[in-house]
Amino acid sequence: MPLYRDEAIVLRTHKLGEADRIITLLTRQHGRVRAVAKGVRRTTSRFGSRLEPFMHVDLQLAEGRNLDTITQAETLDPFHARLGLDYERYTAGTAMLETAERLVTEEKEPSVQHFLLLVGGLRAMAAEEQAASQVLDSYLLRSLAVSGYAPSFDHCTSCGLEGTHRYFNPSAGGVLCTTCRIPGSATPAHETIRVLSALLTGDWACVRAADPRHLREASTLVAAYLSWHLERGLRSMAYVER
Ligand SMILES: [Zn+2]
Repeated sequence: MPLYRDEAIVLRTHKLGEADRIITLLTRQHGRVRAVAKGVRRTTSRFGSRLEPFMHVDLQLAEGRNLDTITQAETLDPFHARLGLDYERYTAGTAMLETAERLVTEEKEPSVQHFLLLVGGLRAMAAEEQAASQVLDSYLLRSLAVSGYAPSFDHCTSCGLEGTHRYFNPSAGGVLCTTCRIPGSATPAHETIRVLSALLTGDWACVRAADPRHLREASTLVAAYLSWHLERGLRSMAYVER
């Protein structure tokens, strides 16, 4: 069987037979990959603990007819160990893993931007410099943007008129001016639109200076925007504290 190497984030695992696991990975070069890890549920396994969700690993895989097999795993960054100690960061991180799996729909389709965004997001989540919900919101907006669903916050998504507009509608793809507004649009505070824009561009100084009320309102709108673009909502989102 041909071998290949790649680095990856472990998105999810599930049991296979007596001692094996199927590991869902987001890799740097090969996009989403599902691979078998043989014998990892045995206590004698050499790499069982390296293949837990959140782990950033360097892998060697053997190509298979259906599923590839993981033959070597080295830890690059143990995000699992760091996020596992903090419930809020762990649940927000889990929502990031689920989002990555849902947005990268094709197996073995290179998605390097999604990979880099997820590694950066998990690093920020583990670093504890920003609030967990803000790291999550920023990640969600950016990963939607990478998927082709970039929301507009600084111009009307319908007519292009620049400025901070009052109406926000996920189905329209962002903010709308008074002329273009459609029924059912949210009317967030101007400050909330600025927070959303800062989360998308990574302007952390602006995010840190924001009022908690506007951060909460922004989180609600990010969740609405995400669920509009995913067919089913995220299971893990129910556990994220808002
Ligand atoms: Zn307009």
